[in-house]
Amino acid sequence: MSQVSTVRGPVDAADLGPTYMHEHIFVLTADVQQNYPGEWGSEDARITDAVTKLGALAAQGVRTIVDPTVVGLGRNLPRIQRVAEQVPELNIIVATGLYVYEEMPHQYSYRGPGLLIDIPEPMVTDFSRDITEGIAGTGVKAAFLKCALETPEPTPGVERIARAIARTHVETGAPITVHTSGPHQTGRIAVRIFREEGVDLSKVVIGHAGDSNDLDYLTELADTGVLLGMDRFGLDLFNPYAERVKTIIALASRGYAASMVLSHDANCFIDYFGAAHDAARAAAAPNWHYEHITDDVLPALLASGVTQEQIDTMMVENPVRYFTPAKGGAS
Ligand SMILES: [Zn+2]
Repeated sequence: MSQVSTVRGPVDAADLGPTYMHEHIFVLTADVQQNYPGEWGSEDARITDAVTKLGALAAQGVRTIVDPTVVGLGRNLPRIQRVAEQVPELNIIVATGLYVYEEMPHQYSYRGPGLLIDIPEPMVTDFSRDITEGIAGTGVKAAFLKCALETPEPTPGVERIARAIARTHVETGAPITVHTSGPHQTGRIAVRIFREEGVDLSKVVIGHAGDSNDLDYLTELADTGVLLGMDRFGLDLFNPYAERVKTIIALASRGYAASMVLSHDANCFIDYFGAAHDAARAAAAPNWHYEHITDDVLPALLASGVTQEQIDTMMVENPVRYFTPAKGGAS
């Protein structure tokens, strides 16, 4: 039985249950938070808020969330451990990687193969350590890799990150989630780079594929073996709810249920908008929370002819397959 690392320790991959493949808990900018702590407020209150929201999610029957919050999004494992301890019915799977749209962080700019400090790719070293030994001394192991391909053409730094992610996948067997742009159809770039690096494409989620309704683009990606992240339910600003649902129905009817995973890309706190503007954020995206899929999306899919079996494929079987090593490799 293959096991997958979660915040509270390993669980059998087969037991993940209904899973959301892309949910954050806290998204913030650590050095801004350290210098302007007012927005974050009380650590205890934030933890309590997250426990409440994730507890409500678990009460809907969801058993696992996959959290792609890496460096660049404010990953803080001790904080997530405090949350996980208080929501024992929910597995939280965490990631390693780097979330960058354009500029390579200075911390990696001058070290690496052929650079001023000429050493083996330090990102591979860091990501691999998070997967094999654990993150920042917590003992919690990352179970998957995350990077971003947002712009129509990746910068050299962003491409270097994507290749480091791919190489870490090849070394460790850990699967990958890549943030992509629906409008720019950067999933194609992800497939090209990962193919060149020998990635097992069945271990790749093309994150935010569901921001696109271009069935030619989506089926072209799915036919390479990747999973499509239909993962921004509630972010209707990027793609309206009705369109997101219609696209899933169309893909399911063409036999692509085995190529899709579901999620909201939601969070309990994000510093992009500021706590003072919570009401404006909620007004702009009222359904952007963890309970939208169960409350609204699944009933809409079922009413339109998507079967419960296809929903189970998207929510249970596909995540299990993603986290199960292909040939008994590392997990
Ligand atoms: Zn995200």
